Amino acid sequence: MAFDVATLRQDFPILGRLVHGRPLTYLDNAATSQKPQVVIQALVDYYSKGNANVHRGVHLLSEEATQAFERSREVVARFLGLKDSRGCVFVRGATEGINLVAETWGRTHLRAGDEILLTALEHHANIVPWQVAAERSGAKVVVVPVTPRGEVDLDAFRRLLSPRTKLVAFAHVSNALGTVNPAVEMTRLAKTVGATVLIDGCQAAAHFKVDVPALGCDFYAFSGHKTFGPTGIGVLWGRPELLDTLPPYQFGGDMIRKVDFEGTTFREAPERFEAGTPDISGAIALAVALEYFMPRQADAHAHEQKLLAAATERLRAIKGLRLIGEAPEKVAVLSFLIEGGHPHDIGTLLDADGIAIRTGHHCCMPLMKHLGIPGTARASFAFYNSFEEVDRLAVSLEKIRKMMA
Ligand code: PLP
Repeated sequence: MAFDVATLRQDFPILGRLVHGRPLTYLDNAATSQKPQVVIQALVDYYSKGNANVHRGVHLLSEEATQAFERSREVVARFLGLKDSRGCVFVRGATEGINLVAETWGRTHLRAGDEILLTALEHHANIVPWQVAAERSGAKVVVVPVTPRGEVDLDAFRRLLSPRTKLVAFAHVSNALGTVNPAVEMTRLAKTVGATVLIDGCQAAAHFKVDVPALGCDFYAFSGHKTFGPTGIGVLWGRPELLDTLPPYQFGGDMIRKVDFEGTTFREAPERFEAGTPDISGAIALAVALEYFMPRQADAHAHEQKLLAAATERLRAIKGLRLIGEAPEKVAVLSFLIEGGHPHDIGTLLDADGIAIRTGHHCCMPLMKHLGIPGTARASFAFYNSFEEVDRLAVSLEKIRKMMA
């Protein structure tokens, strides 16, 4: 499939809008991605032609909705490189997926004296659920440091692994710095001490092919809205045989086998973890997003790597601008500071030029503390971004730098 950014951009209606009279330059993709028209249309079609509840009805609409919902699970499995979709649980997003594991696996597997190994670059969503699980069980959270370049210190990672390590949880890609962690190697090392491994794939899924069997992890979570799908839907994948041993996360309809006031039995995964009416339209539209993305994935990655190289070169040339996080393996995320300027001011001034970036701690307060900075300005790219947009960012930042000098 030919990869022509100008043509692809036409698939995303929002990219044609103006902001403060300027063409929108959307560089906040790590926060949420934009949606192609096919995804928007899938939501409209579902509600205008196919709305019905799933799994229960005998009427045609319900059967169609059930088929579409379950087909979406198959698409998700394909997206993650899986043959079997049974481990793919629909959740609200990565946050809910990680909470689900911390609550169900954590409650049944963590004991006093156990250790949960996290890295210093985690998003709060992959820290706080583990802190709570640790408090409840008497386990301890242990943190792997990050090097000044923004990479997980692998020597420290090796040193901190021990038979006490019951869980290792880490981001596939850092949302704040763009670092791609060596997930296969980290999982392999974690397995040498018998730890269970959860990978937070929130920032990886929109940038390169995720192959869960090759990773060798036990859990993998991602959010639909960062992967060109709607908000409110995401996926937690877990090894089906492991999921079946865990207690349910929530209780209600759809997840039960038999309810009796004498006692209730539960279904196996994935339904075991999908209590109540799910986000049917969200799951269907997510599948459309993934089917839109998958044939373009390899070219998208190559294009983004070129954008990253171009943007890094342009930003490095700006006097007083300091890039934060320069790992050799990165997705197209550039965190930076400008001497004499507060990140929020940089964000506001860029906005006046129609350029949307994110500023602050990026839900990574411990990482910011670790790096000794209050926050950063972060430009994060998607495959629909263009070299012209890199230029607009650099020109605007050069102007801002002069204002701040
Ligand atoms: N993990 C990472 C690395 C993220 O970047 C994010 C969102 O920014 C999350 C988890 C949480 O995702 P969500 O808010 O979609 O649940």
